[in-house]
Amino acid sequence: MKPVRTRFAPSPTGLLHVGGVRTALFAWLIARQAGGSFLLRLEDTDKNREVSGSGDHIQESLRWLGINWDEGISIGGKYGPYMQSERLAIYKEWGQKLVDAGRAYADPYTAEEVDAFRQEAKAAKQPFLYRNHRPENPPAWDGSQPLRFRSDPKSYTWQDAVMGELSTGPEAIDDFILIKSDGYPTYNFCHIIDDFLMECTHVTRSQEFLASVPKFLNLYEALDITPPTLVTLPFVMGPDGKKKLSKRDGAKDVLDYAREGYLPEALVNFMATLGWNDGTEQEVFSTDDLVAKFSLDRVQKSGAKFDEQRLLWLNGAHIRALPLQDLYARTDTFWPESAGGYEEDFRKQVLSIVQERLKYFAELPSLTSFFFEEPTTEAVQTLLYDESNKQLRKLSPEQKQTLLQAAYKELEQSDFSFTDLEQRLNNLLVTLETKPGILFSLIRIAVSGAPFSPALFDTLHVLGKDTSLERMQRALTL
Ligand code: GLU
Repeated sequence: MKPVRTRFAPSPTGLLHVGGVRTALFAWLIARQAGGSFLLRLEDTDKNREVSGSGDHIQESLRWLGINWDEGISIGGKYGPYMQSERLAIYKEWGQKLVDAGRAYADPYTAEEVDAFRQEAKAAKQPFLYRNHRPENPPAWDGSQPLRFRSDPKSYTWQDAVMGELSTGPEAIDDFILIKSDGYPTYNFCHIIDDFLMECTHVTRSQEFLASVPKFLNLYEALDITPPTLVTLPFVMGPDGKKKLSKRDGAKDVLDYAREGYLPEALVNFMATLGWNDGTEQEVFSTDDLVAKFSLDRVQKSGAKFDEQRLLWLNGAHIRALPLQDLYARTDTFWPESAGGYEEDFRKQVLSIVQERLKYFAELPSLTSFFFEEPTTEAVQTLLYDESNKQLRKLSPEQKQTLLQAAYKELEQSDFSFTDLEQRLNNLLVTLETKPGILFSLIRIAVSGAPFSPALFDTLHVLGKDTSLERMQRALTL
């Protein structure tokens, strides 16, 4: 058995989104699971579509996610270069081999001539095929004409590791361009040469290439190359499940997730389970877990739906599973500015009580700023009289004041330990014959100026007695 070697071969034509990275992730998982190698190759042969900076962006995205490569761009390796634009001489040589074997020819036609062929086919109600117009005496190929493959149309039946057995008839195969007149190869040609020379055992790519596979098989045959294992991943679909995920459906640049404070392992978990499961109900996987459990035969054939709510939920689950110290280290750049003057210990206490409900780190300021700065009077006032609060709107200002006053009196006597706060406030509910949705909401609004906060006893405990009482005093004046 040859050692497993998989690759990710993106074209630097834009930002990497979840759909693109999932392809890399699956290839990476196959390699890691088999103890093989994963390589990164840049397919920069279409200079018109190239977006500057995109090669770097792709690498940064993969690095952030922990999808590390053993060979390839930036790090080199014995099969390099890994940038296709640096391999033009190799493609030319292989092109020449095909010419010599009678399997490729210089395309002599002008655009007008090809157009005329097309019109002819149309008039005859036939599909237009280049192979019906092979020149009898093609000119010698000097690199200035496109080099076209001389195909050998036939039926194919092949095995795809995800899609299963597939077949097509000869009509799927035509003469196609191998090398363009600008000297750059087409994807159809150079990926085959590179996968062969780089000894890739698996070609993991998206469904959009599926229709071209018969052409590839025909070319493999002409080159006398055994095709690698073909792994076709179904599209990642937009949230409506009807069409391929696009920017319009919220497909973000992967690094946007980094900027918003998602955990890379949560995103990896999310992408791995877009169209794959381990056959159980398990949804939360560590990356090690995925490497151990991933299997191609459980990748589904149909498109997987992109559900950002599920990503949020998974991210929350990964956040909850982190030891506090680790979580703290990762939140460094996300704290509200006002937290700057506070000790690490205090921030950690705050973090420990929001950990439960934190879904991504960019939420930290809105969830925690009241621990570091006094909420504005307007915020408190607005919430105290918020008509959309079904419980509070039933109370008159005087009733609210009476309740808050009673709470203030009770809390004055507390030592603000968690148990004491819990006991006193729960007893107070009974004495005042009211509900947490009323009494605790009032206290929460008074101290936090926020409609939601971590659990009330925790909040009060961390805020401390002086601050809590001062803020309640202010609310009483409102
Ligand atoms: N360069 C192709 C793309 O970016 C890669 C397809 C493949 O993995 O072979 O879509």
